[in-house]
Amino acid sequence: MSEVEELALSTPAAIKPPVDLADMAHKEFRDDDYWRVIPAYANLGTDEFNDHRFQSRNSITSLKKLQQVVGNLVPDSFYQDVEKGLALSPMSVRISPYLMSLIDWTNPATDPLRIQFLPMGSRMLPDHPELALDSLHEQEDSPVPGLTHRYADRALFLTLDTCPVYCRFCTRSYAVGLDTEEVEKVHFGAIVDRWEQVFAYIESRPELEDIVISGGDVANLKAEHIEYIGDRLLKIDHVRRMRYATKAPAIMPQKLITDTGWVDALTRVVDKGRKLHKEVVLHTHFNHPHEISDISRRGLNRLMERGIVVRNQMVLQRGVNDDVETLHLLIRRLSYINVHPYYTFVHDMVRGVEELRTTLGAALDLEKQVRGRTAGYNTPTFVLDTMGGGGKRNVHSYEHYDRETGIAVFTSPTVRPGELFYYFDPIDELDPLSAKRWHNPTERKSMLQAALDLASCP
Ligand code: SF4
Repeated sequence: MSEVEELALSTPAAIKPPVDLADMAHKEFRDDDYWRVIPAYANLGTDEFNDHRFQSRNSITSLKKLQQVVGNLVPDSFYQDVEKGLALSPMSVRISPYLMSLIDWTNPATDPLRIQFLPMGSRMLPDHPELALDSLHEQEDSPVPGLTHRYADRALFLTLDTCPVYCRFCTRSYAVGLDTEEVEKVHFGAIVDRWEQVFAYIESRPELEDIVISGGDVANLKAEHIEYIGDRLLKIDHVRRMRYATKAPAIMPQKLITDTGWVDALTRVVDKGRKLHKEVVLHTHFNHPHEISDISRRGLNRLMERGIVVRNQMVLQRGVNDDVETLHLLIRRLSYINVHPYYTFVHDMVRGVEELRTTLGAALDLEKQVRGRTAGYNTPTFVLDTMGGGGKRNVHSYEHYDRETGIAVFTSPTVRPGELFYYFDPIDELDPLSAKRWHNPTERKSMLQAALDLASCP
């Protein structure tokens, strides 16, 4: 008789029986030399691979470099497919060796990490006809370059326009990363003079209590800039809450272990904030349980020891995390390493990634299955950012949603009262008859109008 069976027998009947140990996968963290499968990393030792400087210097930034690193693990046809994808993509490519090593190169087409960071032309779909490059209208709500002030008490500070990796699903593909064949971008350099305009605006608006310090990614700010921005904002009396946004824990956890200057600078800002009774936290961006390995656990433990609260904002993506088992595992693994799974975002209407978007209906169904699995504070709220600047809305709060046409309409009483905002399901997920209607301009107009009329009904 196994230990679990013995325990089950000795457990009073009224108590739930212990779960199968196979259901404890969230406690397992890869700690093998997984990178050695990549030809270019085959001889690397643990210390070298787990150094953030190695990770930054050796990121994959071109097709040529991808070929040099992955070599004959994949056929030529794969590289040709990626070349086609890159030509169509609004994001430039940048992938850390950490992510490269976690991709299953025996089956890259369906690998959840490949899907997020490396486009394959053969899998891409035409953009939705109602989509725009800055579909959330962040620039329209920008009083000074690099600051978006949309909500009453909070603002988004874009400190710079680079990241340690470039995600295909990025909402800010209009600004983040290098120009591509498809897109010439708005650029926000890490320049103190520009930041001063942002600070002056925040100082002039006493209602601003909460500042998201983002980008790009603050992992690319120097340690002294992390502290400079933090100190400058802490000095503004009405700023009560600050959130540094970085994807580093998910895509380059080595930074939390070996970039001591950066972590120390963040810790000092958090400590100073605490003494001033102001909250300073870190927001990050895990999307799949495979992104969490033993080095992630160690990095997050380090932040925990320093009293730094970490919250996660994941993006729902087709073929990546749009099934309940993957979501459960991600949420439980995050909770286990003290990362709060704060938000699950329905994929924004972004160019060049139509095959990644799910329907709103899929998000509604998943939410029902996720809620109740663990404590409420570790259960993400499912939200979507409406098109046209209505801001974040709870997925359940639509005024009208038709799963056949794929049109959802939301209101936004606190951001733009009296207006209506759309979200559209990807057309390839609709039934063929409804999909066909989208290709007829007259039909399309009438579907859009009918949705607005129904949403406006008292
Ligand atoms: S790290 Fe964030 S800002 Fe940078 S590309 Fe990814 S989603 Fe965009």
